[in-house]
Amino acid sequence: MTNGDIFASHMYNEVIRQYDEVAEFINLDPNIKERLKLPQRALTVTFPFRRDEYEEVETVIGYRVQHVLSMGPTKGGIRYAPDVNLGEVTALAILMSWKSAIVGLPYGGAKGGVAIDPRPLSRAEKQRVTRRFTAELLPVIGVDKDIPAPDLGTDEQTMAWIMDTYSNFVGSPQPGIVTGKPASLGGSITRREATGRGAVAIAKAAMDKYNKKYSDSKVVVQGFGNVGRYAALASYEEGAKVIAVNDLKGGVYNEKGLNIPELFKHIAKENTVDGFPGGDPLDSEILELECDVLIPAAVGGVITSSNAQKIKARVIVEGANSPTTLNADKILRDNDILIIPDILANAGGVTGSYFEWVQNTQNYLWKEKELYEKLIDVLTSSFEEIWVIAEKNKCDLRTASLIKGIKRVAAAKLTRGLFP
Ligand code: NAD
Repeated sequence: MTNGDIFASHMYNEVIRQYDEVAEFINLDPNIKERLKLPQRALTVTFPFRRDEYEEVETVIGYRVQHVLSMGPTKGGIRYAPDVNLGEVTALAILMSWKSAIVGLPYGGAKGGVAIDPRPLSRAEKQRVTRRFTAELLPVIGVDKDIPAPDLGTDEQTMAWIMDTYSNFVGSPQPGIVTGKPASLGGSITRREATGRGAVAIAKAAMDKYNKKYSDSKVVVQGFGNVGRYAALASYEEGAKVIAVNDLKGGVYNEKGLNIPELFKHIAKENTVDGFPGGDPLDSEILELECDVLIPAAVGGVITSSNAQKIKARVIVEGANSPTTLNADKILRDNDILIIPDILANAGGVTGSYFEWVQNTQNYLWKEKELYEKLIDVLTSSFEEIWVIAEKNKCDLRTASLIKGIKRVAAAKLTRGLFP
């Protein structure tokens, strides 16, 4: 194989290890097997941005990786975090390919990011970073080429700046260049809530298989950003008790269940769950709390072989990307914990994005209710397919999801043939 060392990172190595096992299991064509380990395009950019004080100019590094270009445009989020690196972004782009294929979308996987901590940045600084990064990405993004979306540390406003910058270069409004943008620019509320709500819909369908009711569950959510907060809200609306949530600043606990709509009002003012009067400050490790459903919805690599034995949840719903290391995954399965893997659990995000993009490119508007019904239909029917694959192959849901995703991508590549 071509030397892929430039992509090596902990996350990339884990994604490839997972892929190798499944590729072998399904007897994947050896040529395709090697090809899919490497992304088709990986753009690294460095660019300067000016601090508000004006004297200081900082140079930062950013990436956009496109894994497979065979099935349609590529699709994937853009994250701002200090530890963003080429290996991580590549791993996440590969996962996006499987994810889109699992829910049957006409996309290949992509991911991007800037290695910067967005929290200390002023709004103006974040805007300058975003606009310059967008300008650097111009050769590779496009409504029919590659469509970014929000991820860790980016939000609807970030997408609005990307759309504005791109539209200025093109010379006409291009709402379809990003998804997860504000409703005033053609964004959809369904997209905003899709990842968190979708994760709960899939968890509900999975628990039904064991005759367990989601509404009777105690739920714990790590991270209260875009994914975590709507997973918590959907759980609350289902009638489940959300007993603990946290974010980077702190956490809150209430054995009787937190009032999530009230918590939304609190974060609108304070920008953190910390200090919410409807519960007690959380003073123990959130992932190790006694609960039925645990939803890690913050960052990757939080469930490892060091804490997996201490996890008491019955079901883990991976809202975040790669929250569980492979070694931890085995420990959890040995302990009979049901894991709904990221590539299935958080596929609501890319599915909601797809609907938003179709609306934008066709200038067509569905009602939000209709969009939401379509979203849940795609997710639950994909879950049913994965369930059948898992039963047929006597395997866990992660392996079953990978079987479906990898087979579909490989079939597309083989059918198109080799150029030239
Ligand atoms: P976000 O930036 O909106 O929110 C992240 C939240 O996690 C914040 O509340 C932050 O304070 C908290 N957090 C960060 N580190 C933490 C830690 N160590 N402990 C507790 N809380 C912590 O990000 P997001 O868009 O909600 O994404 C969260 C995860 O979900 C990421 O892994 C992302 O890749 C994945 N994901 C997001 C989407 C989406 O639609 N936004 C779709 C699929 C997957």
